[in-house]
Amino acid sequence: MNFGVKVKDKVTELQSPDDQIDLEIVGRFPYEADGARSMAVSPVTKEDTCTICGTCASVCPTEAISINGSVATKIELCIRCCACIKNCPEEARVMEDEMWKNIANWLNEHCSDRKEPQIFGVDV
Ligand code: SF4
Ligand code: SF4
Repeated sequence: MNFGVKVKDKVTELQSPDDQIDLEIVGRFPYEADGARSMAVSPVTKEDTCTICGTCASVCPTEAISINGSVATKIELCIRCCACIKNCPEEARVMEDEMWKNIANWLNEHCSDRKEPQIFGVDV
């Protein structure tokens, strides 16, 4: 039976949209609560090399950076996307937090190789 027909049969079996389907999804359970790993961290500016060009503020997606004679960052708005680090022409934006550096090193070491997609879901 082709895949589309199997999916249609499964959907037809559901009595209501709230019906539970036992999905076996890979990963670690239970999921962590929102904010369980929130970090009060953001990149900082090396004032000796910053030219106050404003590029970091213009690329920041959350408007966490403001320029007013110096570069100020609102940590609570920072989502740690690192756009300011990548786009600073003077390499003056850096992440100095030790835990963050350790995470970055771990990711570089363990997650640099391409992973193939995993398919999972209801067995139809
Ligand atoms: S992009 Fe770099 S040099 Fe320009 S204001 Fe931001 S930190 Fe300073
Ligand atoms: S890391 Fe991203 S969100 Fe945080 S200050 Fe830089 S550009 Fe903005």
